[in-house]
Amino acid sequence: MNNKGKLTAVKGMNDILPNESYNWLWLENIIREWLKSYGYENIRTPIVEDTRLFIRSIGEVTDIVEKEMYTFSDALNGDSLTLRPEGTAGTLRAVTEHSLLYNTTQKLWYIGQMFRHERPQKGRYRQFHQLGVEALGFANPDIDSEVIIMQHDLWNRLGIKDLELQINCLGNKEERAKHKEALIKYFEQNIDILDNDAKNRLYKNPLRVLDTKNPDMQDLVSHAPKLIEYLGTDSLKHHNGWKANLKALGINFIENHQLVRGLDYYNLSVFEWVTNKLGSQGTVSAGGRYDPLVAELSGKENYAIGFALGMERLLLLLAEYKLLPAKPSVDIYIASVGGDVTIYAMRLANTLRANGFTVVQNFVNISFKAQLKKADNLFAAITLIIGENEVKNNQVMVKFMQQQRQELVDVKNILEFIKSTIL
Ligand code: ATP
Ligand code: MG
Repeated sequence: MNNKGKLTAVKGMNDILPNESYNWLWLENIIREWLKSYGYENIRTPIVEDTRLFIRSIGEVTDIVEKEMYTFSDALNGDSLTLRPEGTAGTLRAVTEHSLLYNTTQKLWYIGQMFRHERPQKGRYRQFHQLGVEALGFANPDIDSEVIIMQHDLWNRLGIKDLELQINCLGNKEERAKHKEALIKYFEQNIDILDNDAKNRLYKNPLRVLDTKNPDMQDLVSHAPKLIEYLGTDSLKHHNGWKANLKALGINFIENHQLVRGLDYYNLSVFEWVTNKLGSQGTVSAGGRYDPLVAELSGKENYAIGFALGMERLLLLLAEYKLLPAKPSVDIYIASVGGDVTIYAMRLANTLRANGFTVVQNFVNISFKAQLKKADNLFAAITLIIGENEVKNNQVMVKFMQQQRQELVDVKNILEFIKSTIL
């Protein structure tokens, strides 16, 4: 409720109305085709999960778990539940619960609402939508490369040219532990520059400090010891293999050694696609390898890599580049006056729809003139005008809306006539 007592949507959670939703449908269609062409299958998991799932997977010392989760107690049984802040944890929970990774691999995707209690602004909402893509069971960096190739391909399909790809390697647990020691030492020597958030995280998870958005800490963070310097042969081999593939395929990237991602579960390859067109909400799609999470949630060593793409941010970017389509128009509007004429018009509408046309029929008791205005508003290419005379003579008046021209056609020829004029 707002302060005048009117019921409104919850702050930061937006309605997507018809003048926008057609863009979503358009984008989702492209996305579905694109995912299909890489052999990904759709998975749909609940929006609400056991709170422990997120704490265990995302990590206790992260922005999401510390301050962004919608957690509540189920009033009926006291269970602690959470609106999902991201989709990977739920997907892996489902994959484990249904043994989908038993002796095989999986390539999965989903699109859905995610919830984070953040300060709403352009490109940042409390309910938002992610497209999530997860490739499970693949060990070597070829899949890391395909995951990048496919995103690059999506930008091409959409006509987006200048998203910057940033990559990094987060190594393994032991390598991160050594780096962690060095980081703590470095930050202790610069304790005055740390903000409270950073001080709180210093000993629990200093890697998180690198993820700070505080401008006063950027200089400090940029000179911090780099994880890449602590990587062993295996991690470096994986990282170099990935980079070599990308280079061979002509995909440009920037190595950003500060890139650590906002969740704890990543190892080895991490990446973000960044734009400078959306202010500080510049990351459109982001992800990486999260092998340790599979073991954590399933109790069995395995491999996983994935990414999440912010649908709202992608749509904002497409709007920025004027790459969104025009609102779909109606092919045919049927203007008619009640009684027997309606049934005659309905039969005609059915025939036309069965042949692939979009047809809207008038059901309101208004003049032909007003109906033609409606047809114009829907950008109909053709309006069929049917009055009692037309019914009596088995005819239809076909009006071409752009050309201001009309023609009386026998109803038995109408389909062929329209096909020859519209197609
Ligand atoms: P940011 O640094 O912008 O907060 P993040 O690291 O928290 O992003 P991820 O958890 O990696 O984001 O989520 C993947 C993608 O989901 C982001 O790159 C972004 O496009 C989108 N996203 C994340 N949080 C929001 C939000 N609150 N509103 C809209 N989109 C979001
Ligand atoms: Mg965030």
